[in-house]
Amino acid sequence: MSESITHHVTLIPGDGIGPSICDSAVAVIEAAGVNIRWDVHQAGMAALQAGNDPIPADVLASIRETHVALKGPITTPVGEGYRSVNVTLRQEFDLYANLRPCKSFEGVTTAWPGVDMVIVRENTEGMYAGQELYAGVDKSSAVLVAFNTRKAMLRICRYAFDYARKHNRKKVTAIHKANILKKFSGILLHSYREVAAEYPDIQTEDRIIDAACMGMVRKPQDFDVVVTTNLFGDILSDLAAGLVGGLGLAPGGNYGDGVAMFEAVHGSAPDIAGKNLANPLAMLLAGTMMLHHLNESKAATKIETAIGTLLREGKVLTPDLLSGSTYGTTDMTKALVDLVA
Ligand code: NAD
Repeated sequence: MSESITHHVTLIPGDGIGPSICDSAVAVIEAAGVNIRWDVHQAGMAALQAGNDPIPADVLASIRETHVALKGPITTPVGEGYRSVNVTLRQEFDLYANLRPCKSFEGVTTAWPGVDMVIVRENTEGMYAGQELYAGVDKSSAVLVAFNTRKAMLRICRYAFDYARKHNRKKVTAIHKANILKKFSGILLHSYREVAAEYPDIQTEDRIIDAACMGMVRKPQDFDVVVTTNLFGDILSDLAAGLVGGLGLAPGGNYGDGVAMFEAVHGSAPDIAGKNLANPLAMLLAGTMMLHHLNESKAATKIETAIGTLLREGKVLTPDLLSGSTYGTTDMTKALVDLVA
């Protein structure tokens, strides 16, 4: 795409380490020569502290206009408080496909080299989209009412097979718990088999979630494209991130028909917020997914190459990647800006 084009993107810096890693991603993307007009809006705790809703109307209006968002992690109070902003945004824009690539990088020491899998997670249904309630006057039970629809299961399976075909991937593995949850999880498996019949060129396989976790830890190279439901996809993608060097290297893209939102897989990391310790690479890799989506693949590749170089050199890295390192977020950002400029 021509460098003269100016893209219009909603930027949500988020909470905790979000603003610092978003600053980093913006600096590197701009140094790579992409013109973006960032429409910056707060959501989550940052919005609440400014006296607004966790998802103020201006955030939704901006995304409706730009159709593309880069979002920092957002704090969700555990066990109380407002509903997850992430879940709400995914549902509001029907961002039904959550793509989470997990790839080994040269220079990052892990138990397994050669991991290259993409987890395709259904993003709008299942337990995360269910209704919870307590039963009994003393809240003695907790109830969850959740659903998976055939329509959404067929849609996500088709997305996974189309992705595999488009990106020359060989196999799509469905991960489920249909041996126990015969209907709730079985609906994914039945939909998967129906869709798989339309893609004879792609290998198929299905695994039960517990055995799949064991298999992924013992031999992650067996996985190529994985398709699964909402909760399983969230858990499996953190597991897969652990296999390639941790959450600091795991990006995600949320895609719907016409709107896409990009973010790191990790959360707002309150334990390291404000300490210049956050690894900005997951956020930046999410930024490169966004650039591919905007047809700025040349700049995306330039940034991916710079990330590869930085990791291979193994010096200017945050402590999550290099134990005892005194380099921080800003040092990594500067090194990446120098590499892409
Ligand atoms: P987390 O991902 O924020 O942190 C888990 C661990 O990984 C922490 O030790 C943290 O320091 C480390 N870590 C995470 N990102 C890192 C990075 N870029 N560089 C170096 N270390 C990093 O998970 P959590 O502590 O369970 O969650 C904190 C908050 O984030 C919660 O409110 C949770 O709901 C929220 N959350 C948001 C998103 C999102 O916005 N997409 C995703 C997950 C969690």
